[in-house]
Amino acid sequence: MTDWTIYKEFRFEAAHRLPHHDGPCQRLHGHSWRGRVYVRGQTLIPEGPKQGMVMDFGDIAVYLDPLVEKYLDHYYLNETLPLESPTSEAIARWIYEQLAAAGLPGLVAVEIRETCTSGCVYRQDAASVVKMTDGF
Ligand SMILES: [Zn+2]
Repeated sequence: MTDWTIYKEFRFEAAHRLPHHDGPCQRLHGHSWRGRVYVRGQTLIPEGPKQGMVMDFGDIAVYLDPLVEKYLDHYYLNETLPLESPTSEAIARWIYEQLAAAGLPGLVAVEIRETCTSGCVYRQDAASVVKMTDGF
């Protein structure tokens, strides 16, 4: 069986604070966040301008860019996201759920990196992955 996982990386600048943290993260501060959306496929598009691809990277961006523009980039995440404490874990899950609700085919995981050394990967069980359809 063939199996590919592709990813699209994204970045945003944003502030947050973790109200329950017992250290400096309780204070308002910002990060240059980086993330990746992972999409998995077991077949490649057979013909046309996207021949040989699991999915055009640009098609992942179609789902992702509105989230970055409306909720993430240059925002205070405690205000724009419906999260009581916007940790990397909570943000990764929120992004995953938005992409899944929008129907991104083949979505398997969202990674969020808060600093160059710290981050997390959120995924759900394989049964919930939106089926990749031919000719997306
Ligand atoms: Zn932080």
